[in-house]
Amino acid sequence: MNYIVFDLEWNQSPGGKAHENPRMPFEIIEIGAVKLNDRRRKVDTFSEVVRPLVYHKLHFRMKEVVPLSEEELSRARTFSRVARDFIKWIGDEEFRFVTWGNLDVMELQRNLDYYRIGYDFGKPLLYYDLQKLYSILNDDGKSRLALEDAVDILKIEKDIPFHRAYDDAYYTAKVMQKIDFKAVRDYLSVDYYHLPQTREEEINLDFPTYSKFVSRVFPDKVAAMNDKGVTLLACPKCKMPVWRKQKWFSTGSSGVYLGLVKCPRHGYVKGKIRMKPAPGGEFAVRTVKLASEEDAQRIRERREQLQEKHRRERRRTKAKK
Ligand SMILES: [Zn+2]
Repeated sequence: MNYIVFDLEWNQSPGGKAHENPRMPFEIIEIGAVKLNDRRRKVDTFSEVVRPLVYHKLHFRMKEVVPLSEEELSRARTFSRVARDFIKWIGDEEFRFVTWGNLDVMELQRNLDYYRIGYDFGKPLLYYDLQKLYSILNDDGKSRLALEDAVDILKIEKDIPFHRAYDDAYYTAKVMQKIDFKAVRDYLSVDYYHLPQTREEEINLDFPTYSKFVSRVFPDKVAAMNDKGVTLLACPKCKMPVWRKQKWFSTGSSGVYLGLVKCPRHGYVKGKIRMKPAPGGEFAVRTVKLASEEDAQRIRERREQLQEKHRRERRRTKAKK
């Protein structure tokens, strides 16, 4: 298994959203990558600037952060050529993408689709978001650190500058070599660019401390929350579904639901459903983990508070009438 550690630089509409091409909000202008082998040793590198064909002028923010001139870009090869070489460079061996953050894998596919370039990155596409893995190892798993800060904390020598695509891939690879990767290698990220379209394609993943489900696309929240596959709450340990009426309640913040059940063998099980927008509707991401007595109590209190709030609101609207 190879690791394709990569980073992209992209440009956006210099004239703002009003002049944006909705099929290509972010146009890739550079690809940088480092190939690591199974033992995380560097075996190859890839670095090339891309000539933009959608946005010819650089967005002002790009000019500030990326030392690439419009002239340099105009001399580069087009995305179709560079991307085909990049896919060839990735090779036929089994691989996983590794990125710092969760945007690059999506934007790479969006650009490939725009130019109708074929690719097979696996279905579902699972990859490593090293920024997340770093947080799981060193913090709460939710915080996100800038790459340069992680490089500083890990005392990695800064022998090349930052902010070109290759530089960021280079340092991301260094971070990957330095951290206790084996301890977090189970925590794969799921790409949401190509979502499941059928029930059969829906994604179930088991992590050491939780399970994750990604639904197919539904027309709306109501349709999703009426689907038994979405609202299933199974114990993450024994996989036994726990049947109970009214498992889920809306938290008040849009599209977030909490659920609580009890597995007869392993105790409390808590779930969270997040509805996310997708072309043609919405899809659900459900995470489930075991919960402590205190967790369960907190969820019950939250449910009661919300129910009380609903009752008060209903009384108020009735009084108005
Ligand atoms: Zn159980």
